[in-house]
Amino acid sequence: MLDELRELYQEVILDHGKKPRNFRRPDSPTNEAAGRNPLCGDQLVIYLNLTEDGTIEDAAFVGKGCAISMASASMMTEIVKGRTVAEAKKLFENFHNMCTDDDAEGFADDDDEDIERLQVLSGVRQFPVRVKCATLPWHTLAAAIDGVEEISTEADS
Ligand code: ZN
Repeated sequence: MLDELRELYQEVILDHGKKPRNFRRPDSPTNEAAGRNPLCGDQLVIYLNLTEDGTIEDAAFVGKGCAISMASASMMTEIVKGRTVAEAKKLFENFHNMCTDDDAEGFADDDDEDIERLQVLSGVRQFPVRVKCATLPWHTLAAAIDGVEEISTEADS
């Protein structure tokens, strides 16, 4: 990656980390889950409003943690809004691969600009400890969808 690009990516992460989008607790979420990453101290709660046909009408979060975890949660809540639960889980799968597999092609087959923005975070794969920061919001999202109240990144590793 060019140095210029790397800097740009960091800027995006810092911006989301400092001013997280959808950082709020909705009035009456249909689903919610708490996630913890003890390695780094990241903690967050994901709130969802799911429609009966499985569309994510609203996604929000509250919590505290490092810039990577906050930026990831911020971007995730923006991106999954309006998508179906199945689409969100597919995104999680792709995102996870992108963060852990050097050979992953990311979302090359997807023209969606929103999703391409997630590539910004794939730089964490150079820093294994940071992978859990980036994927924590997604693990927690999956837990909220599945009706699991609490998860820890240490439980599934
Ligand atoms: Zn972290």
